[in-house]
Amino acid sequence: MELKICHMYPDVLNLYGDRGNVKCLQQRLRWRGIDSTVERLPIGAQARLGDFDLVFIGGGQDFEQQVLLEDLHRGKDREIRAAIEDGIPFLTICGGYQMLGHYYETYDGQRCDFIGALDLYTVGSKQRMIGNYKFQCGPESGGSLVVGFENHSGKTRLGSGVQPLGQVLAGFGNNGEDGTEGARYRNVFGTYSHGPLLPKNPALCDFILLTALQRKYGAAELSPLDDTAELAAHDEMAERI
Ligand code: GLN
Repeated sequence: MELKICHMYPDVLNLYGDRGNVKCLQQRLRWRGIDSTVERLPIGAQARLGDFDLVFIGGGQDFEQQVLLEDLHRGKDREIRAAIEDGIPFLTICGGYQMLGHYYETYDGQRCDFIGALDLYTVGSKQRMIGNYKFQCGPESGGSLVVGFENHSGKTRLGSGVQPLGQVLAGFGNNGEDGTEGARYRNVFGTYSHGPLLPKNPALCDFILLTALQRKYGAAELSPLDDTAELAAHDEMAERI
């Protein structure tokens, strides 16, 4: 078994160590004797996303999101839409999550017309939503409690056909108003959670890995790991928040 991972825009979308999610995905596969490769896809590079088993996109500031717009609309937007419709799993963080929607309008009125792969949109607000937060994933996402760190001014609203990744227990989430956090559509996992997200949320990491393995190989199982250290970090934050 092997998973081919694509890390999109590692050059401009990597806030708060988001690339650590790729390292965590690979390590939790390696501990199970499953191989993986990672191909970086920076601005200007081309690749067929259909050749990959999992795609990761990290977060970025308003400026970086505008920097990548031209590159995105030179064909990567079509690739992303097709890959999502083909059921390829995506893990997207904050700015990387926002760009899957119809648009992101910054607080100063700059409008970024994004991909429209997910029925959602984001509008920047005067309020920055910053801090440690926690949310409960829905059963379709494994149902785990997730702890994370958010820092965004964008308020995301979900449209029809898109489910939240989870319900906020403490913190802001998508917009600080409707109690939703993130988004799920087909095998896309969108979230505002930086940190990186996955190392201290092993259940969610394994759920995403299983989604990719089962899509590629049909049946697949992940042997249990000793997550004592990961869960100690998780539980400390869950109690603190
Ligand atoms: N620039 C976007 C916002 O402020 C995304 C920020 C991020 O990726 N942390 O909402």
